[in-house]
Amino acid sequence: MLTAGTEGYDEETAVFNLAVAHHPAVVVGATSAADVSEAVRFAGRHGLNVAVLNTGHGPSVPATDDTLLITTRRMSDVAIDPERKTARVAAGVRFQQLVEAATAHGLAPLPGSSPGVGVIGYTLGGGVSSTMGRAYGWACDHVTAIEV
Ligand SMILES: Cc1cc2nc3c(=O)[nH]c(=O)nc-3n(C[C@H](O)[C@H](O)[C@H](O)COP(=O)(O)OP(=O)(O)OC[C@H]3O[C@@H](n4cnc5c(N)ncnc54)[C@H](O)[C@@H]3O)c2cc1C
Repeated sequence: MLTAGTEGYDEETAVFNLAVAHHPAVVVGATSAADVSEAVRFAGRHGLNVAVLNTGHGPSVPATDDTLLITTRRMSDVAIDPERKTARVAAGVRFQQLVEAATAHGLAPLPGSSPGVGVIGYTLGGGVSSTMGRAYGWACDHVTAIEV
């Protein structure tokens, strides 16, 4: 957990999309769902809003000094079930990692044009694949479960 002005704060709040600059009161580099739960409870106790950041590719609203920002990039587990043809994807996974894990089993996700984009942020926005979207539709329509 880092506050403004402490070492590592600028690196933790850095984003791909430089049009958005985040200045949260607190930033939490989550490594697990338990970290996320604890961060949300902390925000509740201290009257802070909660924002989430993975890669910062999205044009999200800047986190300000009334906000606790949770970064998810360290949550990078991917599990492929080749029989059910499903993937379980942690909050920080990017498409490059998912494509590599899926193709090892002769499977493919519905990725967008950038391997660096986060799977969750892309899917929350619908997720349209320029190469496979016409045949298979929106990525969000293939979601079977979400852990909140
Ligand atoms: C180079 C480039 C190419 C792209 N190509 C495509 C494309 O082909 N098809 C397409 O559909 N889109 C495309 N996009 C758009 C991209 O899907 C969105 O910008 C997406 O929101 C990026 O998600 P992210 O998690 O990487 O970014 P972030 O900015 O980290 O997150 C985006 C949004 O999702 C929210 N979010 C992320 N993770 C979570 C979570 N675990 N819980 C709750 N909220 C979360 C964030 O709060 C934020 O509002 C492209 C974007 C770029 C920059």
